[in-house]
Amino acid sequence: MSIKYTIPRGTFDVLPKDSYKWEMIETKFRHVANRFGYKEIITPIFEHAEVFERSVGDTSDIVQKEMYRFTDRKGRVFALRPEGTAPVIRSYVENNLGQDNSPTKLFYIGPMFRYDRPQAGRSRQFSQYGIECIGSNNPYYDAEVIQLFYIFLKDIGLQNFSVEVNSVGCATCSESYNQALTEYFTPHLEELCGDCKNRINKNPRRLLDCKVHSCKAIAEHAPLMLDYLDEECQNHFAQVQYYLKLMKVPFVVNSRIVRGLDYYTNTAFEFINNNLGAQNALGGGGRYNKLVEQFGGKPTPGIGFAGGLTRLLISMENENLLSDIEPAPTIYFIAVGEEATLLAIDMIGWMRKNFIHVEFFPDKGSLKAQLKNANRLNARLAIIIGEDELKRNVFLQKDLQTGEQIEFNLESFEELYLS
Ligand code: AMP
Repeated sequence: MSIKYTIPRGTFDVLPKDSYKWEMIETKFRHVANRFGYKEIITPIFEHAEVFERSVGDTSDIVQKEMYRFTDRKGRVFALRPEGTAPVIRSYVENNLGQDNSPTKLFYIGPMFRYDRPQAGRSRQFSQYGIECIGSNNPYYDAEVIQLFYIFLKDIGLQNFSVEVNSVGCATCSESYNQALTEYFTPHLEELCGDCKNRINKNPRRLLDCKVHSCKAIAEHAPLMLDYLDEECQNHFAQVQYYLKLMKVPFVVNSRIVRGLDYYTNTAFEFINNNLGAQNALGGGGRYNKLVEQFGGKPTPGIGFAGGLTRLLISMENENLLSDIEPAPTIYFIAVGEEATLLAIDMIGWMRKNFIHVEFFPDKGSLKAQLKNANRLNARLAIIIGEDELKRNVFLQKDLQTGEQIEFNLESFEELYLS
């Protein structure tokens, strides 16, 4: 008996009807990233689990609940990457990437894995596009990173999104803030979920992005980080906003942005599309001035963002930005009879070598059936060679939109289609 296999829960196949959309988005992202001077980096899908545990934070949901952690045959503990920044920083330090160029500007596109509850816009394998700018604490780069994300979404044609920025401060001003949070949450201890009870002393900030309803309600009135920024952090945040205005990137300050990863310092931001429902973040990022050090590099500031491809696609569908772009063949070739088919194979080979998109199905039946198929594929032109055409040494070109037909000499074929 044969067994029918199904795809793992929380994953999906990108089928041909959609894969060209993915390719289009990736190409656009590569172009924008290149325009800003970013170069692609490709890191492995799995890393030593510690790469994430120490950087993303062992009190974060990502590490505690969502990471695919496994042991290999030699007992080493690895994790499927839940996010892209930690691997990039691991590689930056390991390969000494900072030595030639500062800041080092890197981008990546690829799958990430989180054991999350699947729902619209949230899956267990998902693709992220992101950038990292490593080597400068100049607030100009905070703004430039946000500007890149903004220009990318605008390039794609997206209208409905907003840019929300915040500052989560540096290690020094976090201290007084963490203390204020602990003081605020302690009287509510009994109402908090088990995780938050544990986090309150270790990392009270994690209580701010707990997804449990009762914790969320309490967190709503918690003190705000912006009220605890020291002078340096206040100035940094003011500069970021100044540059964003100069760059004409519209934004709002949202002091509730905390981000779910521990490594952020100073600027934190999110790109929100409110039409997306519960999973409304198109992407987010921030500054991570201590991360390179944590990976054993010399103290080096950095900033970056990551966006989710699926949520971008859903947003684009909602705004009708994905219709009419499926790549259609330029030419649909129809040969009737054996001799014509041999000639067609020769001509088609030449065309494909010359970058022309040609479709050819030698066994699709009658001329009528072939033309129907050409229309189904949205081909622009049909080239038809039957016995009669062969005898007269011509071929017929039919414009499938207008119906206009023109006969050409076989000898003029190559010249006619040279682009
Ligand atoms: P994060 O670093 O967790 O804020 O993730 C950055 C972006 O990746 C989010 O704003 C989403 O667009 C996307 N993303 C994160 N987790 C998932 C998921 N489980 N499924 C689909 N997209 C996700």
